[in-house]
Amino acid sequence: MSRPPIPILMYHAVETNERPDKYKHFYVTAKEFRRQVRELTSRGYEAISLDQLVAGLAGAPLPPKPILLTFDDGYQNVLTNAHPALLEVNWPYTIYLVSERIGGRNEWVEPEGYEATPLLTENDIRELMASPLVTLGAHTATHPKLDQLSPEAAYDELVRSKAQLEERFQRPMTHFCYPYGHFNDAVVERVREAGYQTATTTQHGRVNAIGEDLLRLPRVSIYHVPPFSLTYGPGALNFRWRVESRKDKRFDKS
Ligand SMILES: [Zn+2]
Repeated sequence: MSRPPIPILMYHAVETNERPDKYKHFYVTAKEFRRQVRELTSRGYEAISLDQLVAGLAGAPLPPKPILLTFDDGYQNVLTNAHPALLEVNWPYTIYLVSERIGGRNEWVEPEGYEATPLLTENDIRELMASPLVTLGAHTATHPKLDQLSPEAAYDELVRSKAQLEERFQRPMTHFCYPYGHFNDAVVERVREAGYQTATTTQHGRVNAIGEDLLRLPRVSIYHVPPFSLTYGPGALNFRWRVESRKDKRFDKS
């Protein structure tokens, strides 16, 4: 029996207030996020965890319309603005942490002229871990572009973040996310050697039941679109288009 491909949504920050336009790819607002969760529940979606996805692709039963939610970088406002909304609907989700930036800020955006945003502290993460809904994943130690490092340096980022997060939080770290979505065949091999079971990219697409590479999982990028946007059309329609209709880029050979 074939099933429709499964969307993995990619979020970053969930801000209380709107930010200047140049930040739109970094966030959604808390209000926007709540609307999106409501929209998904009303359309019959049910969130699953990455572990459930792995089991499901191996043949375990899944809900009729599974979806996954992932949050890159581990922003503090995920705890304040997304976590409560997801607790209400009992939806699991994943946060990818940058192991040597916990309690700091995403300072890696500063050279490009952006203001950095606070990241989760160790205490915040422990608070999140108290909920069985939360999966922690690794997003390297310092958020480099892995394909631009030597193979040794890339491997070191992968094993260092895994070891640091496992040591600190006493949880196995089997899920990884490529910073900036940068990877190549060699990086994927290092991710495998480092012992990760899944890795998510920023390539647009949905996860197919058959033939999907667990170390190159595509995602659906969700970012701020105002309710009435000239560029993107109405926010709610744009969201639905991204989740359900936008073509899988990976099969677009043009
Ligand atoms: Zn990132």
